[in-house]
Amino acid sequence: MDDSSDPRIETRAIHAGQEPEEETGALMTPIYANSTYEQDAPGDHRGYEYSRTGNPTRTALEENLASLEGGSYGRCFSSGMGSINTVLNLLESGDHVVTGDDVYGGTHRIFTQVYEKYDIEFDFVDTTDHDAVADAMRPETALLWVETPTNPLMRVNDIAALADIAHDNDALCAVDNTFATPYLQRPLEHGADIVSHSLTKYLGGHSDVVGGALVTDDEDLDEQFGFYQNSVGATPSPFDCFLVLRGTKTLPVRMDRHCDNARELAQWLDDHEAVDRVYYPGLDSHPQHDVAAAQMDDFGGMLSFEFDGTLEEASAVVSNTEVFTLAESLGGVESLIEQPAPMTHAAIPREERVAAGLTDSLIRVSVGIEHVDDQKADLQQAFDAALE
Ligand SMILES: *Cc1c(COP(=O)(O)O)cnc(C)c1O
Repeated sequence: MDDSSDPRIETRAIHAGQEPEEETGALMTPIYANSTYEQDAPGDHRGYEYSRTGNPTRTALEENLASLEGGSYGRCFSSGMGSINTVLNLLESGDHVVTGDDVYGGTHRIFTQVYEKYDIEFDFVDTTDHDAVADAMRPETALLWVETPTNPLMRVNDIAALADIAHDNDALCAVDNTFATPYLQRPLEHGADIVSHSLTKYLGGHSDVVGGALVTDDEDLDEQFGFYQNSVGATPSPFDCFLVLRGTKTLPVRMDRHCDNARELAQWLDDHEAVDRVYYPGLDSHPQHDVAAAQMDDFGGMLSFEFDGTLEEASAVVSNTEVFTLAESLGGVESLIEQPAPMTHAAIPREERVAAGLTDSLIRVSVGIEHVDDQKADLQQAFDAALE
């Protein structure tokens, strides 16, 4: 990456893994809508046998994503959960995993409701507390699973410090880089062994596709990911890969706008009398602002804030927006708004939820790339409507 002859990420986003098609010169990678491939003699094929195992549209996306993360190998899956499942496929009964106490809900669910029954144990700790992480490590700990920034309180985890703790204990360090994207943060540069993505979010970027990916520098790990990709079969269709490839080309320009808008909105909310507190890593007041500034190239498009009102009044805010759509998910060009207490985090008992900082009036925003003045005006009219 330091090699100045390497194209920069804006250039790689558009060109890595993608060549004009040989026969016709078609610029865009074709959608190889195809299940099987001609062999010249039994076993003598041109790199592809069957599309669960490999498909040229998928290969183009896998190479593109590996390049964006600065890694050697990429593998794509039919969802972010498909990629997380593949990392868990590496484990054996008796293994132990340490992870954050605020990981994505689906990640918490697959850990506790799918893999615990195979006698794999999970410890959920505050991963900003490195002593707590080190204390949780055991001889049988095989994996440290990290998210950063986290959802919805935007905690920032120090990847280099956590990767060191994992490696001191002979465990792998995997980082879910969905919120930051490789444009803002490349975990392999900080010592992580595996990067996991939900392509559904910023990498796809247009809320029109579900997908996942794993990137690593380790050939042996990549071979195992390929084995599970083929054996488990959670592979994406060539149509889905095409959509994500279309998304990654504009990742840098979209992320710049997401970050600019989120920064301005975070500051505006922070100064707003109807808002008690703002969670955004780009604010000086954010508890891990320094870690974020060192580890990330910018602070991302996700933020949360506490509306100064009741659960019902906060519900009225998210129900009255027009530029912001009330919906779960994130990372598309359009702004989304949601209220964790009755929505994404409703399964957590209230006392536990509030103690963890997820108050009744907490509102999470995926800041889109509309004009920021329209975003502000929309939130202002929703605040006014809620307090009427
Ligand atoms: C959405 C998400 C996932 C799961 O991805 P899907 O594509 O929905 O399966 C995993 N991790 C994070 C941080 C996410 O936001």
